Amino acid sequence: MLALAGYPLGIRCSFLDRSAEAPGAQVAPILVGPLEDAALLAELAKGNDVVTFDWENISGTALAPLEKLTSIRPPREALEVSQDRLREKTLFKRLKIPVAEHAQVDSKEQLVRAAAKLGVPGVLKTRRTGYDGKGQLAVRRPQDIELAWDRLGAEGLIYEKFQAFTREVSIVGARSAAGDIVYYPLAANTHADGILRYSVAPYVSPALERSAKIHLKRVMSALDYVGVLTIEFFVVKGRLIANEMAPRVHNSGHWTIEGCVTSQFQNHLRAICDLPLGSTRALGHAAMINFLGELPDRKRLLAIDGLAFHDYGKEARPGRKLGHCTILKAGIAERNRALADALKLIEWS
Ligand code: AMP
Repeated sequence: MLALAGYPLGIRCSFLDRSAEAPGAQVAPILVGPLEDAALLAELAKGNDVVTFDWENISGTALAPLEKLTSIRPPREALEVSQDRLREKTLFKRLKIPVAEHAQVDSKEQLVRAAAKLGVPGVLKTRRTGYDGKGQLAVRRPQDIELAWDRLGAEGLIYEKFQAFTREVSIVGARSAAGDIVYYPLAANTHADGILRYSVAPYVSPALERSAKIHLKRVMSALDYVGVLTIEFFVVKGRLIANEMAPRVHNSGHWTIEGCVTSQFQNHLRAICDLPLGSTRALGHAAMINFLGELPDRKRLLAIDGLAFHDYGKEARPGRKLGHCTILKAGIAERNRALADALKLIEWS
């Protein structure tokens, strides 16, 4: 999606991925090998004006030597903070952004203490390399503590108080090297088993959107950020509680391809290539639905007026994000009707 956004601007992308089957390979040249292979990274850096990433589990240490060869955007510090849930929460707290009460857990005793102090229910998560609900377990009753430790136990965990949220929302924005910032409208996200199922946007809540923008701006400024950044929040009693940040284009921003004047992908490229940022104005009311595990019937979905279909060309695997569709309508009620029609045609496996 980044490469596709680059073509009209005259920006050519090339990729490094572990598999030659990666979606990027369908639309741009690709280097295939481990993401932390020094020689491949150097080749990528030498052949490009700027290097970016759309997945945050790459080691910052592997990227560090590239800083001598080219510019890495967003900055490595943002990548490293986002890789560790504890560092992320510590940054949020320092910037006065509310987070769930939490405790570092490196032993079973610490977990027992954390659960006693913060209470049950809670969520035990790995600090690193967890995403899409991987590396986390709900602790619903005191008996689950033992089980959670047996399943995840090791060091490098975090225990969070369970957030009884009414909604999950995210804000996506882009910042240029000169410090200009544009914000997309707030999106409301529905997850199941820790994986995003669908988003609707703009989620009309001026007060929440105002706070989300303030929080995003603080994080971007603190990190001297360049590129697209996303923060996901829980809405608890009408207030935002930050869950995590992603230093990249985000699944909850995919609706911007059809739903906004400038997509998150184009704005990411504009930011990292020192071009003026584009308007984030919404063109209507959008819903984005992920295709997980299997692709739905394209013909039936395309019969829905205002629906755009995105097949990433990936091999089907249970739970894997294989594509998405976006519905764009003039009003909220129409959008919601079309969303309900589309959801009937989509199975998540
Ligand atoms: P994460 O990997 O942190 O984004 O978590 C994935 C999903 O799990 C979130 O979008 C929530 O739906 C749920 N979740 C994670 N942490 C908590 C929490 N502390 N309280 C309630 N739900 C949570």
